[in-house]
Amino acid sequence: MFMSTNLSKQTVLVTGASSGIGQAIAIAMGKAGANVVINYHSDDEAANGTLDIIHKNGGEGLIIKADVSREDEMVAMFANAIKYFGTIDILVNNAGIQKDSKFIEMSLQDWQEVMDTNLTGQFLCAREAAKEFCRRGVVAGRSVAAGKVIFISSVHNIVPWAGHANYTTSKGGETMLMKTMAQELAPQKIRVNSIAPGAIKTDINKKVWSDPVQAKELLRMIPYNRIGEPEDIAKVAVWLASDEADYITGTTIYVDGGMTLYPEFAYGG
Ligand code: NAD
Repeated sequence: MFMSTNLSKQTVLVTGASSGIGQAIAIAMGKAGANVVINYHSDDEAANGTLDIIHKNGGEGLIIKADVSREDEMVAMFANAIKYFGTIDILVNNAGIQKDSKFIEMSLQDWQEVMDTNLTGQFLCAREAAKEFCRRGVVAGRSVAAGKVIFISSVHNIVPWAGHANYTTSKGGETMLMKTMAQELAPQKIRVNSIAPGAIKTDINKKVWSDPVQAKELLRMIPYNRIGEPEDIAKVAVWLASDEADYITGTTIYVDGGMTLYPEFAYGG
């Protein structure tokens, strides 16, 4: 049986799609034929930039400004997206932040903000998407699944990271959210998976990759010896959302150039 990564007739909602990994995923999904709902938080110009590229590539898009941590805004965002495109077939739960500090200096506010965006935000979006997938079910000729959820996790869902207790905890929690959803929703033909990026060149870690000394240190942690590009993640997201990946659910795919291979053992041990 021939299948492809063509996503035409499907609609994807990507959170945090005005920059970095989310923007690359939105563009790649548009190229694969999907209608793209571009959620963003604050940068109007950048969100318009994502839409312009999708249009130039011949795709369709809709921009929705909303904060993923706000339940009222997420309920409204999904209702508007469904009204505009008819339904949602794919959710990419990408929006995320870091608020780094030493553990004993971490404020409750910094802890809470990261949980609200990275974990509660992903829960709210996943719940709204899953409701729509359950309501609609499988549509013949569109996809063999009723819906797909892709969490953008991190290697720090399993790798501890000093100075980032809030971030690592949010990503670890997200893994159990993803697995539990996958188990609960598989009978409804809904697939739920995560992509765990290693170090990808975006705004979130610009301080590191734009400094030659820190960038060299970072490369020591990447056996494949290059920092990742947002497109490295986007290609996997398109494939994972397609029927080519139909038997995959409840899994995390590491896209990290080998960062999770205990790279320090290459130098000793
Ligand atoms: P980024 O800062 O470019 O993207 C994060 C996006 O999330 C931004 O567009 C931001 O506006 C949006 N956002 C933040 N708070 C929001 C909110 N409350 N509501 C809606 N949108 C919100 O960085 P990125 O690297 O592209 O990050 C995307 C995802 O990838 C994050 O979940 C991050 O944890 C994850 N990740 C990134 C790396 C990396 O090396 N860049 C590695 C592992 C995981």
